[in-house]
Amino acid sequence: MNKKEADHGPVLVPGGAGFIGSHLCGCLLEQGHEVIALDNFSTGHAGHVAHLRRHARFRLIEHDLTRPLPALAARATRIFNLACPASPAYYQQHPVQTALSSALGVWRLLELVQTSGARLLQASTSEVYGDPQCHPQREDYHGHVNPVGPRACYDEGKRFAEALMISSLAERPLSLRIARLFNCYGPRLHEGDGRVVSNFIVQALRGEPITIHGDGMQTRSLCYVDDTVAGLLRLMDSAVEGPVNLGNPVEVTVLELADRVLSLTGSRSPLVYLPRQPDDPRRRRPDISRARAELDWRPGVSLDDGLRETVAYFRYRLDAGRRHFPM
Ligand code: NAD
Ligand code: UDP
Repeated sequence: MNKKEADHGPVLVPGGAGFIGSHLCGCLLEQGHEVIALDNFSTGHAGHVAHLRRHARFRLIEHDLTRPLPALAARATRIFNLACPASPAYYQQHPVQTALSSALGVWRLLELVQTSGARLLQASTSEVYGDPQCHPQREDYHGHVNPVGPRACYDEGKRFAEALMISSLAERPLSLRIARLFNCYGPRLHEGDGRVVSNFIVQALRGEPITIHGDGMQTRSLCYVDDTVAGLLRLMDSAVEGPVNLGNPVEVTVLELADRVLSLTGSRSPLVYLPRQPDDPRRRRPDISRARAELDWRPGVSLDDGLRETVAYFRYRLDAGRRHFPM
């Protein structure tokens, strides 16, 4: 398939009604693409893309990626596979569904692109590095994952997906891209899905205690969703075949994050310390040299600016009568 054909065919977005997927679908439509979102609504919701449904070029189809694909998927020239629960609290309650969403999901898509010739981008994760012993994490670090721990369903599912992609590529010419996303946040995170940014903001706005797991000295590097989506689009258009880290290298402790959220919300919520989560990575920061050099991509939104936008979103949602969608 040449570039002109690829630019004009529909873009398939499994997981398109999720947090990142809904932003990605919006950007693709703005760029003039026809977009087909597939979603089983396990952690996503049609409400996330309700504002896109006025576009004649947008379709949302309820579909579980572990099942055979609908016939119209074969028309897609580009596929961004985002279909997998991403919140540890959620995926640990649904471990088999999570592992199979990654493993069978990517297999279905690989079968499709072997015949259709579409380019497939897989949303992989910093979790392939597990609780890393190398810091910051470069793409050539092989990781430190517990294959039988509570995060294995997610981490090993994503590792298997990468392995299956690379194995398929070894057997036949395919057009594949692998984005290793580091923690992403922003509007349309789910208020109840247990991730740190949504939890802290909702707790602060409600005046409830901020729940710190462990001593709060573990770190994360938080990337605003607009930056993540820009990186995904760049990677899809690039010639880079190996995995690429997409994340914001500014690293903060969980306690620092709580402090920023309290300050930006003006909340007086107390901190409450809960037990550390098993296998919780202690440090996480992407080395984004590859993305800088090969995609000319780097994040542009500061943590405070991104948190301000996210706080404004949750303030709106938490106002009476604007409850979040059910999980
Ligand atoms: P999300 O849970 O909001 O979105 C995932 C979407 O996929 C949801 O709409 C869900 O309903 C859908 N889905 C799940 N399993 C499915 C299946 N079997 N069939 C069809 N649809 C299915 O999560 P997100 O934060 O938007 O993450 C999107 C992708 O990016 C995921 O693959 C995730 O692993 C990856 N990722 C996200 C982050 C992050 O910080 N948000 C970090 C690393 C990787
Ligand atoms: N965390 C926390 N309190 C919460 C939710 C999360 O202290 O209410 C911590 C969690 O233990 C982890 C970090 O915040 O160390 C990031 O957690 P999240 O679930 O957002 O994503 P992860 O990076 O672990 O996939």
